[in-house]
Amino acid sequence: MKYENRETAVCPKCGQEYTGRPALSRTDNKTPICPDCGTREALENIGVGEAEQNEIVEIIHRSMRDNNVQ
Ligand SMILES: [Zn+2]
Repeated sequence: MKYENRETAVCPKCGQEYTGRPALSRTDNKTPICPDCGTREALENIGVGEAEQNEIVEIIHRSMRDNNVQ
């Protein structure tokens, strides 16, 4: 499977390079951040602690890897 959108951007929040559609930072609603940080901010917003955020992001990564297996 090929993705058309291969542009990379650097997340200002965590400094990681990412590809694909960015998330918008909740702090100002216009800064594009990586999907991971978007997930973390959303979780933080509903009161999820940092350890649990890491766990959830890890689960998302794992399921994305599984979906990419050819
Ligand atoms: Zn980030």
